[in-house]
Amino acid sequence: MQEKMIALVTGANQGLGWQIASELVANGYVVLVGSRDFERGREAAESIGSDAHVIQLDVTDAASIAAAVDRIRSEFGHLDLLVNNAAISNARRPGRSLEENMAASRASVASIDEMRTVWETNVFAVLALTQAMLPLLRAAPSARILNVSSGVGSLTLNADPSFQYRAGFGVIYAASKTALNAVTLSLAIDLEPEGIKVYAASPGFTATALNNFQGTDTVEVGARNLVRAALDTESPTGTFTGPSGILPW
Ligand code: NAP
Repeated sequence: MQEKMIALVTGANQGLGWQIASELVANGYVVLVGSRDFERGREAAESIGSDAHVIQLDVTDAASIAAAVDRIRSEFGHLDLLVNNAAISNARRPGRSLEENMAASRASVASIDEMRTVWETNVFAVLALTQAMLPLLRAAPSARILNVSSGVGSLTLNADPSFQYRAGFGVIYAASKTALNAVTLSLAIDLEPEGIKVYAASPGFTATALNNFQGTDTVEVGARNLVRAALDTESPTGTFTGPSGILPW
């Protein structure tokens, strides 16, 4: 019998991460359900099934990353797929409306402290976790990394005055996804000689805690492109996609 592929999904205790994790399990993967709160992750893994295993992982915490690497090394010896899904949209109180977030993200008024906090999770932690997982990814026959990004981070789209989400191109969340795109492309170029593929993918505009449930897609529909990209072994490395196909960086 062929061995099951091993995947780690960060921030998989809820929202799009949970959906990706559960569809990876449905597609025959063993999935490590990353959650900064162990108990919430345990419940999430249990709701998915026996091939989903909780792993405590706060992506901004070096000790938590190191413990996750140790655990995956000792239990599985390698990692086939890393899905960098965890992200935050702001650093304020929960339940802030999309409109409030957008207003506070405008370049002319944005709090630099809030920008640092959001970029810490959405950008620097992604690279820190990826670097830490690289020995395990290198130990897999053909590893892949999927960074969950957003069309709202595309410089090309935002430079076009007719782009419908242009007013939302703030420096706190949207530009963190631009920076994540740059990290994605940089990783793709760096890891290409080793055959490790690196993708960025955007979901649809999905009703989750990230946007105070103001998104218009259900999690099942919104996650479709993320699930497709997570299962993709054929596309060239450095591909950025959204629900309607290739997105421009
Ligand atoms: P969500 O429901 O808020 O999920 C975000 C997840 O990230 C939660 O599990 C959260 O954990 C986790 N997280 C936050 N900081 C973390 C940390 N330091 N360490 C570990 N986990 C952490 O939002 P979502 O919409 O599903 O977001 C998933 C991804 O999709 C994000 O990358 C987001 O930027 C992207 N995205 C979403 C949309 C959309 O319309 N929803 C559109 C474009 C892109 P807690 O539960 O502990 O907070």
